[in-house]
Amino acid sequence: MKNTEMYRGKNVLVLGLAKSGEAAALLLHELGAKVIVNDAKSYDENDQAKALEKKGIKVVCGEHPLSLLDQELDCVVKNPGIPYHNPIVKEAVRRNIPVITEVELASVLSEADMIAITGSNGKTTTTTLIYEMLKNSAKNPLIAGNIGTVSCDVAKGAASDDVIVLEASSFQLLGTENFHPNVSVLLNLFDAHLDYHGTKEEYVAAKSKITANQTEDDVFVYNLDDPLVSQVAEKSKAAKLPFSTKEVVSEGVYVNQGSIYFKDQLIIALSEVVLPGSHNVENILAAVGAAMTMGAKVTQIQHVLKTFSGVEHRLQFVKKINDRLFYNDSKATNILAAKKALEAFSQPVILLAGGLDRGNEFDELASSLSNVKALVAFGETKEKLARTAKGAGIAEVEYADRVKDAVECAYRLSEEGDVILLSPACASWDQYKTFEERGNEFVAAVDKLK
Ligand code: ADP
Repeated sequence: MKNTEMYRGKNVLVLGLAKSGEAAALLLHELGAKVIVNDAKSYDENDQAKALEKKGIKVVCGEHPLSLLDQELDCVVKNPGIPYHNPIVKEAVRRNIPVITEVELASVLSEADMIAITGSNGKTTTTTLIYEMLKNSAKNPLIAGNIGTVSCDVAKGAASDDVIVLEASSFQLLGTENFHPNVSVLLNLFDAHLDYHGTKEEYVAAKSKITANQTEDDVFVYNLDDPLVSQVAEKSKAAKLPFSTKEVVSEGVYVNQGSIYFKDQLIIALSEVVLPGSHNVENILAAVGAAMTMGAKVTQIQHVLKTFSGVEHRLQFVKKINDRLFYNDSKATNILAAKKALEAFSQPVILLAGGLDRGNEFDELASSLSNVKALVAFGETKEKLARTAKGAGIAEVEYADRVKDAVECAYRLSEEGDVILLSPACASWDQYKTFEERGNEFVAAVDKLK
């Protein structure tokens, strides 16, 4: 670790435990900070807080008293899930106490180089691709963030010949001041999470923090085809590495006549790439840009692209049964993600969709339904989805109780050559704890088919 003296003797309030709060509290305690942990769960039920207390960390559980802010705090480390309108966070901001998230600690303390990836969609896929592409190179990649280990824990163990590949959400980025990746990647910017960020401007501002502290010695990999992303690039001080699926950008990463190029060097023909979907071409271009910048071998990149078939629950190929192809895209929790999934297929598709009703209609989905021969809808939004499907001229629309029933129904409706796709266009929380639980039910139901 570097900058290890930075937090010695400092008064730090860690707000919200979970995995990241626990890791931050332990790390700061180790570095000699005076840490207080404040968590919503009551003390009696809070084994995590009790364990931290045994290590000499002060814990306050069950409520968030504003008086916690009265003790000359140097900073608050906030769990990214806690919104800024939470009273104690609001008050900390009002009192000018820096409010950060644990990715800030990771960036400040890490001895290793860092590649940070953000965007509205495609973060996990791109992060995984970069991590895989950097294997067998001079630097040893360590994955951090959503998929892997909490980033400040990874930073703690990282050496100077490692490289941290970090997936950063806008919630995490918002709580950063000195966050400084060597290579940062901005994939795209859609209207997402406006309930948390308030306005689109604030959302864009949060995402642009990925490059805010970069200098000309750093590299900013960005999507030239996305106007909002390009606006962020204009303000970045880093060396720019654009990627585009539409234009030949000699100084960047691009597609030309069916092949992927990095600065005019041929990397691979798209026909050899296993990962389906045009959105994944964007993710691949970004990943190639970041991995090549960090010294990945072209042979390793080619190997990854010829074998990597997707992260679980993200347009993941499950299996082929009697010439029907099953795909699990349970992570498609919004309309845009489902549209991307549908656009990935030219075969007839039976779509399994539905879930939590956020009050929106599904009209935007209609233009992507041209290959859909049948819809099996479930969850709170099933009637709304059925209306959209019928409006788009889909004759066959059925309802199912759960995803597993939808699988059986879809199989009954299917013929040889069909794709059976779970891409719900909705969050899962009306019926499932997580999108993973929903996707696992899909895979288990497919496994039972004969
Ligand atoms: P994130 O981590 O940002 O949520 P994932 O890689 O987990 O992104 O992908 C989530 C979903 O978003 C996928 O199921 C896919 O349908 C869609 N998606 C992935 N990459 C892109 C992209 N570049 N543009 C638009 N949609 C995408």
